Amino acid sequence: MNLNITSIPGDGIGPEIVNETKKVLNKVAALYGHEIVFTDILMGGASIDVHGVPLTAEAVQAARQADAVLMGSIGGDTKTSPWYQLEPKLRPEAGLLQLRKELNLFANLRPAVLYDELKDACPLKTEISNLGFDMIIIRELTGGLYFGERKTVLENGIRKAADTLVYDENEIRRIAVKAFEIAMKRKKEVISVDKANVLDSSRLWRTVTEEVARDYPEVTLSHMLVDNCAMQLVKAPARFDVVLTENMFGDILSDEASMIAGSIGMLPSASLNDTKFGLYEPSHGSAPDIAGFDLANPLATILSAAMMLTYSFDLDKEAAAIEAAVKQVLSDGYRTGDIFSPGDSSLTKVGCREMGDLVAARVV
Ligand code: NAD
Repeated sequence: MNLNITSIPGDGIGPEIVNETKKVLNKVAALYGHEIVFTDILMGGASIDVHGVPLTAEAVQAARQADAVLMGSIGGDTKTSPWYQLEPKLRPEAGLLQLRKELNLFANLRPAVLYDELKDACPLKTEISNLGFDMIIIRELTGGLYFGERKTVLENGIRKAADTLVYDENEIRRIAVKAFEIAMKRKKEVISVDKANVLDSSRLWRTVTEEVARDYPEVTLSHMLVDNCAMQLVKAPARFDVVLTENMFGDILSDEASMIAGSIGMLPSASLNDTKFGLYEPSHGSAPDIAGFDLANPLATILSAAMMLTYSFDLDKEAAAIEAAVKQVLSDGYRTGDIFSPGDSSLTKVGCREMGDLVAARVV
């Protein structure tokens, strides 16, 4: 198969982690008989330095022409970098928001997995963390409260602000379809999270998800109120598999889920549109504090590439090979600084490059 991938190394540790991820993808391609072409584009601070803007029309065009986009991370130190002296629409993050919009990336997928080897990093009680968890949060990314009408007014001398939470049935249906499709590749269970006891938008959400569920008779759909979900994530995370939710609830719940999974350096993500196209990136930022020192953990980006193989290319076997290689490296005791426990003599501390080599060597 030909894999036409646009890559965005970006800023900070971005180029380092993307480099290691390309190594792993190239190993998969060589072993499984695929041809990968990477086309690098600039975005964020790297693009500002060269073009004066965080994303050019040419870069958008290159991303559009690809089958998928692999991204490192963008942005710099928000206190000291000159990029943050620019007006907001010219800052690094504006490039990513624009790209998401241009490519209509409405579905954000964030897996939260507790690896056996990293259980110590889980802040939950041992009796809970011992059960492990492996869930994926599917968050609507382009609608709801963050995109509804907003205003701040002065009424009779009193300041008043309003934000509007709007969804139409098509927006709900397309994200629900994504969730059910993904559930078909997993345990065939969807938990849809809403606030249907209060919000009209949530009642429509519930109705439409039930309509979509009729097309997936093998998948079990259940509903959970968002406040209960926030509690259950720390009380019984093992009960979740596919979690479907709207934009703001997903924003909050996915951060909660990533927190209980331990290190931010381990968490991949994908943002998809209604074709097979997607943008794959780690959940963390550009870590300017460690950039250039070979200290970054590349595993979140490597695992994002595994998501790319699954969701954009339907190469499930190849994706599983990457995930197995990551698990093997962890069980062999190799750790980058962010997941290293100094007191544990069974562990070996490695840098970003060595971690990439170790994973690539274990892809079989
Ligand atoms: P961050 O995620 O970059 O860093 C937070 C902490 O985690 C830092 O101590 C960092 O060293 C550490 N860390 C993050 N990723 C790591 C990795 N792979 N390996 C080891 N340690 C890692 O968050 P921040 O410091 O708040 O943001 C830095 C910059 O990143 C800002 O400009 C921010 O806007 C940007 N950012 C970009 C994205 C993105 O590109 N999608 C997302 C979040 C933040």
